[in-house]
Amino acid sequence: MNSNLLNSDEKPLIPVGISACLLGQKVRYDGGHKRSKYCLNVLSDCFDFKSFCPEISIGLSTPREPIRLVGSADSPRVLGTKDPSLDVTEPLKKYADRVSEQNSELCGYILMQGSPSCGMERVKVYHENGMPNVAGSGAYASQIMKNNPAMPVEEEGRLNDPVLRENFITRVFVYHSWQEEVLKSPSLHNVLQFHSRHKYQLMAHSYDGYKKLGKYLATVAPEESLDRVLSQYILELMAFLKCRASRKTHTNVLMHIMGYLKKDIDAETKQDLLESIEQYRTNEVNLVVPLALLKHYLKRFGSEYIQSQAYLDPYPHELGLRNYI
Ligand code: SF4
Repeated sequence: MNSNLLNSDEKPLIPVGISACLLGQKVRYDGGHKRSKYCLNVLSDCFDFKSFCPEISIGLSTPREPIRLVGSADSPRVLGTKDPSLDVTEPLKKYADRVSEQNSELCGYILMQGSPSCGMERVKVYHENGMPNVAGSGAYASQIMKNNPAMPVEEEGRLNDPVLRENFITRVFVYHSWQEEVLKSPSLHNVLQFHSRHKYQLMAHSYDGYKKLGKYLATVAPEESLDRVLSQYILELMAFLKCRASRKTHTNVLMHIMGYLKKDIDAETKQDLLESIEQYRTNEVNLVVPLALLKHYLKRFGSEYIQSQAYLDPYPHELGLRNYI
């Protein structure tokens, strides 16, 4: 593991799994690759990519006979296209178990779409007679997701969508903070601190989640096992963060945050902030605009609590993600 690698801000790179072909490795069945410029040129500044090619790792060669999913969407077999007696379902699942066990530091995973091994969803599943049937997940990918239900997982193709891209990267950074701030020194106090810092981020994705998790933590019984609290909290948090934040939900959060400045700013500044938030709500500017203004005043007048909110700086601003949403 290369977790000691640092980015340009001297912050450690976050360990993230990735399908090897996306890094340009020639491991595909046809001897080619699916090099992702975005992963290699942009995300590698923040992520320490750890690449895996499950098909090569279970002993298949390059080039090789293509494989495909056959049967039901829930539990398809992975069979050779030309030779259906080649069944690599179990080896792929066992390899996923090994990867999960040996790489618990991973804070996310980027998968190659459409692959019967690596595809996260909507992978074609065929009838035995070769006719397309339904859609499912690749055998390796589904086992990785089953073993690590809280870990953020996304397909490379979906990273072209600015909202999905921002959502995935936010989740990776939250999950990494969880590992660093809570799992390295687990206590209820640290969970509460973590939750407090992520309140507005959670609110932007799910108001219900914000209320539900706040209530859950406020009513944890003293005799409750800490392990149980940790696993239930992070599972629910990561599931809620998967919900797409919208202009409406971000506007709500911006207004809440602005509420912390009310007493300290004059009427003209308040009007400027409100106009900027309204321009964002009505699609005239992107999120970066009202946030930059808000952060300027929070820096001068904001309390420690509001300045510490992860929502204000969820990832390095160089990624420019909020310029597009
Ligand atoms: S999609 Fe997965 S199994 Fe296929 S070549 Fe890429 S890394 Fe290997």
